[in-house]
Amino acid sequence: MRDTRIWQRLLGLPQVVVESLNVEEADDGDGEVLVVGVRARKGAVRRCGRCGRRAPWYDRGGGVRRWRHLDFGVVRVLIEAAAPRVDCPTHGPTVVQAPWARHGSRFTAAFEDTCAWLAARAAASTVSQLLRVSWRAVTGIAGRVVTEASGGTDRLAGLRRVGIDEVAYRKGQRYLTVVVDHDTGRLIWARAGRDKATVAAFFDDLAPSGPRS
Ligand SMILES: [Zn+2]
Repeated sequence: MRDTRIWQRLLGLPQVVVESLNVEEADDGDGEVLVVGVRARKGAVRRCGRCGRRAPWYDRGGGVRRWRHLDFGVVRVLIEAAAPRVDCPTHGPTVVQAPWARHGSRFTAAFEDTCAWLAARAAASTVSQLLRVSWRAVTGIAGRVVTEASGGTDRLAGLRRVGIDEVAYRKGQRYLTVVVDHDTGRLIWARAGRDKATVAAFFDDLAPSGPRS
C-alpha cells in the first residue's frame, strides 16, 4: 500500500502500522468483512495485557487473532494482528496488551464504548441488531466498560446477576445505573448515578405503591 497512514486515521488506530486490507466473505455468510492486518511499530514496548507493565517476549501464543471494530461504511471491520505472550513478573505468560482492545475481548475498545453508550439508551435487542452482535456480547461489553470505568473493581457485581448494570457515558465522566429485563432484553429502568442510593431508588420504585415516576 502506498499510504497506510490514511487508513490508520480513518480506522482510529494511530498506535500501529496497517499492513494489509482484504475483503472476505463473512464467517456467518452475511455479506463481506474488511480485514485490516496491523502490527506494532518497530521498537514498540511490549506490555502485559492484564496490568500494562513492560514485560519481555515469551512466545507466539495462539498466533494471529481478530477483533471486531466499528463498521466501515456498510461492511463489518475485523482488526487482525499477532497476539504473542509476554512473561509478566506478576502474571506469568500473558497475551500482550493490544493498544486497541481491552484484555480478553474479541472487540476493539472503540466498538465496546459505542456499544455501552447505546446500551444505556436503547433496548438490548435494538443494540444487538444495529451493531450485529449477540445479546450476550452486549452484556459482556457493558460489564468490561463499566469495570474499567470504576477502576477495575465492579462494585455492583453482586447485583448484576439480577440485571442491574452501570454504564459510563460522556467519556466515563457520568454514569447510569440501568436495569434490564433479561427475558425480553428491554431496558426497564435507568437513572443517573452509580451508587447505593441509585440502586435503592430502583427498589423504591418497585415498592407496592408502584412507580413514583
Ligand atoms: Zn501483568
